[in-house]
Order: sequence, then C-alpha cells, then structure tokens
Amino acid sequence: MIRIAIQSKGRLNEESLSLLQSIGIEVDAPKRKLLSRSQTFPIEALYLRDDDIPQVVSGGTATLGIVGLNEVEERGADVDILCRLGFGGCRLSLAIPKGEAYDGPSWFNGRSIATSYPNILGKYLKNKDIDAKIEVITGSVEIAPAVGIADAIFDIVSSGSTLVANGLVEVETVFESEAVLIARKDLNGEEREIIDDLLFRIESETVSRGKKYLLMNLPKASLEEAIRILPAMRSPTVMPLASSDWCSLHSVIDAADLWTKVRQLKAIGAEGILVMDVDKIIL
Ligand code: ATP
Ligand code: MG
Repeated sequence: MIRIAIQSKGRLNEESLSLLQSIGIEVDAPKRKLLSRSQTFPIEALYLRDDDIPQVVSGGTATLGIVGLNEVEERGADVDILCRLGFGGCRLSLAIPKGEAYDGPSWFNGRSIATSYPNILGKYLKNKDIDAKIEVITGSVEIAPAVGIADAIFDIVSSGSTLVANGLVEVETVFESEAVLIARKDLNGEEREIIDDLLFRIESETVSRGKKYLLMNLPKASLEEAIRILPAMRSPTVMPLASSDWCSLHSVIDAADLWTKVRQLKAIGAEGILVMDVDKIIL
C-alpha cells in the first residue's frame, strides 16, 4: 500500500482525481476525508495544499504526489519526476506595465520584481547576470506594479487574460510547467511494483488522450493511398467486404488531424466513415 499526495482543492484537484478514476482507481473526494483509501488499488490519497506536496513526498510522508512542476522546482525538492501528466499546463513569465519600452532582459537591471517564485526567478536573474530586487508576495502578484509594490512581476500565466486585465505585458517566458507525478527517492520493492503498475496504466491513458478511432468503407483501388494518409500505430487494419471491390479500413488517428484526414479520405472514395472515441490504448 502506498500513499499519494493530491491537491485538496484548486486547479489540479479535479484532473488529478479524474486521472486516477480513468485508470480504475477510485478514491473519495477530499470533501469527506483528508485521507482516503482506494477499494480498487493498493493506494491511499492524502489531500494537501499544493505548496506542501513536494516536501511531503521528499520527506517520505507520501510515496507519490501529483503537483505542478513549478512547485517542485521552486521548493527544490529532492524527488524523482516519474512522468508528465498532460494537464495543469502553464508558464512562469516576467511581465511589465504596458507602454514601457522593453529592450530585452537587461530592462530589469535596477528594477524590482514581485513574485511568489523567488527561487526560480533568482536562478534566472543570476543566469542572465541581472541585478534586480525580488519582492516576495504570496498572492495577487499581478496588482503589484499598479499599487507601487514593484516595477514588474514574475508569475504564472496560462491564457494571459489576467495580465491584460491588469495592464501588463508578458515579456519573457522563464519556465514551462504542467502537472507531474513525483516519487520519493529510494523506493522499496513493494512500492516499486505498485508504481510500475500505476505508470503502465497512466501511459495507456495518456497515449489514448486526443485519439480517435476511424472506420470506413473504401474502394480497394484506393487502399495504398489511404494507408499513406493514415499512418496507424503499426498499419491500418483492412478487412474484406461482401463486395470484392471494397474493403473496410480501421485506424487510430490524432483528434487534431481528424477533419483534414476525413477530407482526404473522402477525396479518394471513402464512404460511411465512423469516428469513435478511444478509451485506452495498451501498447
Ligand atoms: P493551494 O490552495 O493548494 O495552495 P494554489 O492557489 O496555490 O492552491 P492553484 O491556483 O490551485 O494553486 O494552482 C495549482 C497549480 O496549477 C499551479 O501551481 C500550476 O502548476 C497550475 N496552473 C495551471 N494553470 C494555472 C493558472 N492559470 N494559474 C495558476 N496555476 C495554474
Ligand atoms: Mg499553493
């Protein structure tokens, strides 16, 4: 049995729980208990603030954790990053008031920057040989320039709309983040075995994300061209139809390519195209 630390509420909570659910691991939501044992997998969830997750894992209170890479980096936690999870995507960026003449990172020399990420920012400034003052504030960083706390900010950006609303312009992206699965170092044999099973399930889940299953009828004469359009995992499945000039073709494609591929397939005579969601892909 292992323990996994999950954000109790906030941006990563729901997607962390739905990832577990999608790989057959049911745990009670944090509303009911701070510690919840799964009935379907040897794991229990410990619900915490995201700030605490890296240390709780490095210190051994939990074996695993789901947290933003930004928090792991900022805390300098001594943990292993097992995999990226494909959600919670954001970046840490420097932003300055709109209208300032920006001529590159040296703009920050002699200026002050408000942030909740002093370590990541400190490393960046040192790297670029910039002498700026870091003002640590824990929330509402984006209002700092308007109220005179600092000249600029260093904060999380995802869509950028918060910056625009506060009259700021993003000028440098410093760190790209997403949710990651972290583990304590020096795992024992039993923990390793459970984690291998978990990673296997997560992989089949992330591989299938954003994939569509396509099924169509195709004149046999167009088969070669269709195979060029549909580079499937190995090659598309081709099945005979009652009419000997036609076949049925099955393939998995990226959802993002769906409409382009469908148009190309129609152009070479494909008919009755069925598009289905893919639940899992076990490689
Ligand atoms: P907690 O109460 O657990 O300390 P929090 O307020 O510090 O929560 P959230 O705002 O819930 O944190 O964000 C958690 C994580 O989600 C961030 O550390 C980051 O990795 C990720 N994230 C993704 N997009 C955004 C965004 N637009 N703003 C903030 N965090 C984001
Ligand atoms: Mg937090």
